[in-house]
Amino acid sequence: MSPDLDVAVVGAGLAGLATAHRLRAQGRSVHVFESADQVGGRMRTLRQDGYTVDTGAEMLSSSGYQATWRLLADLGIEEEHVPLIGRGIAVWREGKPRKHVGDLRGLFSGAGLSTAARLNLVGMLSNATLRRRSYSVDRPERTPLGTQTIAEVARGDLHDYLLQPLSGGFFGWDTSVACAGPLVSHMLAVGPTKTLRSYDGGMDFLTRLLAEQVEVSTGVAVREVVTTSTGARLVADKTPLTARTVVLAVPAPVAAELHPEAPEYVHLCRYQPMIKLICLLDRPLTGAGRAFALAVPAVENPLLAGVVFDDRKNPDRVPEGAGMVTLVASPGSVAGLLDQGDDEISRVLIAEAERYVPGVAHALRSTVVVRHQYGLPMPTAEAIAIRGRFAVRPVVPVEYAGDWYTLRPSSESAARSAEIVVDRLATAVQPVTAGG
Ligand SMILES: Cc1cc2nc3c(=O)[nH]c(=O)nc-3n(C[C@H](O)[C@H](O)[C@H](O)COP(=O)(O)OP(=O)(O)OC[C@H]3O[C@@H](n4cnc5c(N)ncnc54)[C@H](O)[C@@H]3O)c2cc1C
Repeated sequence: MSPDLDVAVVGAGLAGLATAHRLRAQGRSVHVFESADQVGGRMRTLRQDGYTVDTGAEMLSSSGYQATWRLLADLGIEEEHVPLIGRGIAVWREGKPRKHVGDLRGLFSGAGLSTAARLNLVGMLSNATLRRRSYSVDRPERTPLGTQTIAEVARGDLHDYLLQPLSGGFFGWDTSVACAGPLVSHMLAVGPTKTLRSYDGGMDFLTRLLAEQVEVSTGVAVREVVTTSTGARLVADKTPLTARTVVLAVPAPVAAELHPEAPEYVHLCRYQPMIKLICLLDRPLTGAGRAFALAVPAVENPLLAGVVFDDRKNPDRVPEGAGMVTLVASPGSVAGLLDQGDDEISRVLIAEAERYVPGVAHALRSTVVVRHQYGLPMPTAEAIAIRGRFAVRPVVPVEYAGDWYTLRPSSESAARSAEIVVDRLATAVQPVTAGG
């Protein structure tokens, strides 16, 4: 008997939508199930009172995002729809923002680092550049840094005023647990901060376009996925369905819960929760010099890890004359804040932000609190140690996609995982056309 579906994709984030799009291009018949009422997952954008609020991802890059750019090219999207931000990142040190973080100019201006720390950084990056091929973003288990954590490979200023604020503020990582290899691979791939971009009209730009190309049911949660002798069975809401292949394109802990038979790697992948407080302001505010983002080291502030000036990231994000800043809770404070109400989260983070963005409380029109139970995947030693085995496992009816696949803290890894799963399926099954 033919299954109800050829391919069922669970999750309409970037990984699931890109997988569906690519499989469809190969002649497979695909249906995507999404539990939320909108597509996009952690790249969703809210539109409220003329403000365009990026609830998850903030930016992408000109380099190191090859799978994303391939998708954009497939969809006929020109670079002008992914404008350069054109401003840098600053780090807070002893009462001041220090500019040029993640930029060669920072080696001269300091970027908050002592001379010794800058020399350490040059040594670390030169070493990694010489062995660049070993720092493949697709193979986090093969980097020369093995399972050493960020805190183990970088000490003093280099840790406190560069690697901790970047990985804490942007990825929500705990540097005593997160391995350094995937961070260095990501930094080498992306290059200087001047190459950073954002999507026109909101970070959901690409997921919205992809969703127009594929069949998606929103508001339908998949409850369980079981392998059968001929494929897989899933329960979509309350409806049991069969499929030749199911691709679980959800964060690893969700995939492991839906499909307990998943490989050990899926069970071991860890995510860090994150909280973003987006402040819709009646005017743009000063702070962080000309930078569009300010990383706040944990040694300077245990509660607030970063500020993004959304109106500088892209002026189209706010109504004429208005402003918007996003406050990111620090990895150490998230656990304590997650269960608090929106008002308490706003009160705590805005009080901390006043130091970096003077006048923020006064200019506030309203706030949006976003809690990400699964913020970004964190490369732990346990996950890295068994990822190699996961990467070469045989193709089976339940496959996976998602940013955790290569343990890279970036939407690019969601796009890349779609290419990997589609290649795997192409080598294992003949294309089946709709109704076939
Ligand atoms: C605060 C934050 C900031 C970030 N900043 C950046 C950045 O600046 N640049 C960058 O490149 N990346 C950034 N990222 C990472 C990026 O957002 C993610 O890597 C990417 O969006 C992950 O896509 P995904 O498809 O793997 O997962 P998701 O986007 O999580 O998609 C999974 C989807 O599955 C759905 N789902 C879950 N359970 C079920 C179920 N049972 N049934 C059906 N559907 C289900 C979810 O609703 C969701 O839509 C950031 C992430 C966060 C949280």
